[in-house]
Order: sequence, then C-alpha cells, then structure tokens
Amino acid sequence: MNQIKVFAPATVANVSCGYDAMGFALSELGDEMVFTKTSDQEVRIIDIQGADLPYDADKNVVGVVAQLMLKESNSEFGLDIKIRKNFKPGSGLGSSAASAAGTAYAVNQLLDLKYDHLQLTKFAMQGEVAACGSAIADNVAACIYGGFVLVRSYDPLDIVSIPTPSELVATVIHPQIEIKTEDARKVVPQDIPVKTAIAQWANVGGLISGLHASDFELIGRSLHDYVAEPTRKKLIPHFDKVKTAATNAGALGVGISGSGPSIFALSKGMFAAKQVAEAMNGVYENTGIDYAIYVSNISKSGAREL
Ligand code: ADP
Repeated sequence: MNQIKVFAPATVANVSCGYDAMGFALSELGDEMVFTKTSDQEVRIIDIQGADLPYDADKNVVGVVAQLMLKESNSEFGLDIKIRKNFKPGSGLGSSAASAAGTAYAVNQLLDLKYDHLQLTKFAMQGEVAACGSAIADNVAACIYGGFVLVRSYDPLDIVSIPTPSELVATVIHPQIEIKTEDARKVVPQDIPVKTAIAQWANVGGLISGLHASDFELIGRSLHDYVAEPTRKKLIPHFDKVKTAATNAGALGVGISGSGPSIFALSKGMFAAKQVAEAMNGVYENTGIDYAIYVSNISKSGAREL
C-alpha cells in the first residue's frame, strides 16, 4: 500500500453525565486526510483545506502523531499528508482529536504496524497534548473505537466500548463563537458535594445501561449533568432556550458537546432528530450569531478508510 485516504469522525465528549469520561462519534461529519508514503523519512503536511492550521509538522497534531509513530516503529518511510477539515477547530466537536486519531489509524494501516485500538488511542492522545496541553482521551478514543466509549481509567488507560442502539441519532448546533478552553475549564467547580456526585454517577450507570438495553427512555432520563453544565452553559448564548426547544421537539436529552460552544441532542430516529434540528434553528435564526447545524447517525466504526 502506498497511499491511504481516511475519514476521521467528529466526536461529542462528556455526553452530559459522563463529564470527562464518555464520548461518541458522529458518522456524517469529520476530517478527510490522504497519507502517501515517501522514502525520505520526513513528515510533510503538503495541503490543508477548510481551516487555518499550521503546516509545521511539529505544531500540527497530524505531524506530531505521525512523527511519533514513525519513530516508535523505526520506520524507514516518510509521509506526505493532505488534510481536509470539514468542521471548525474550537467547536467542541473534537477537531484536533479527529486529526490525531485519523492519523494514528492511517499510519497504522499504511505501514501495517498492527497496533490495537488502545495503543492507537495512546498515540492520538499525544496529539491532544500538542493541541491543548493535556492527554485527554474521550474524543480520541471515541474517534478510534467508534460508537460510545467510556474512559474508565487513565492509569492504566482503560477504554470501554459501549454498544450503540442503531436508532440513536445526534443533532448538533455549533454557534460560531469562541470560548477559550481555559475559561470553559475555569468555570467548572473543583469540588462537588457527595450528594451531587451520587446523582451524577447514578446517571452514568443509567446511561450505560440504557445504551446496552436500547432503552431510549432510560437514556433520556439519564442525560443530566450536575457538574459542568450548570456553570458552563452561561458561556453559551441561548443554551437554556435551545435545550427547552429541543426537548419539546422530542429530544431524549440535550447537553454541551465537549467544552462547548456546540450543543448536542440525542433522539430516537432520524425524523425526531430533524425535528430537533428545526427547533434549534428556530432559537438561533434571529440571534445574529452564525451557526451550523448537523444531524448525524452515530459512527459505529470510528476512523475508517475511504
Ligand atoms: P474542539 O475540540 O473544541 O473542536 P480542539 O480541542 O480540537 O477544539 O482545538 C483545536 C486546537 O488544536 C486549535 O488551537 C488548533 O490550532 C490546534 N490544532 C493543531 N493541529 C490541529 C489539527 N490538525 N486540527 C485541528 N486543530 C489543530
């Protein structure tokens, strides 16, 4: 194999109650990248479409992950890489994670390195270090494994793949405002009362159980976040209105995607998910804020060859 074209999905991290521990992948939104083997051991980013990102391989997460994997595997090859970003960095939809995880997947395939999902997640996490300073796993793991994932532990890294009911459909609105990751982190309380923790982990249990059993009512009852959302939502214009409108339109649950500003909803079936999209649109259309709305199935396979 001399060349591979891959699709790396956008991901929704946190999933309300699963703050910093859960994520899922979208099947119809993501990065596309083409990797071509070269003989000079260099990693070169030769084209970037759709976003203003560094071509310097040490600064772009794609270059960081590719160089790391070539070094670890003592590869004699180099890579020329083309990147197409189909959604914006800083959206709360795992832009850097899609690039990092897609690269880990592609390099593994192209060079026949035989790393498993967990090892690929570890490589991709080094891309997250380059993007935001910490080795966060929820977006990259969702992007590599597909479907819903639980980051059960960081030390040792333990990723649990959770079954995804095929009727579950996501609706996402991305208000195109900037929220600094630093600010989104600062507003989340460092300590919470045990009472709050109990409510949160009871809902995580409910969500996981609902996903296993395809119990949509239980999934809906469990999609509540008592830890990050109460303070974080203040950074997102019209969050409560979007949540109410989407819920009234039939969403099972609504929450902040990653650290925002995107807001996600989960619905049973495509028809309901489109109704939710209409409702979200109704809230934002006269606000003067630019936004994009996506309706997507949940990606079952994660990053894949095109
Ligand atoms: P979000 O998860 O909110 O979509 P990210 O955490 O992915 O946003 O943040 C993107 C940051 O990562 C930006 O500062 C961007 O410059 C940096 N970055 C470096 N390489 C890439 C890449 N290939 N794709 C996306 N972002 C990248």
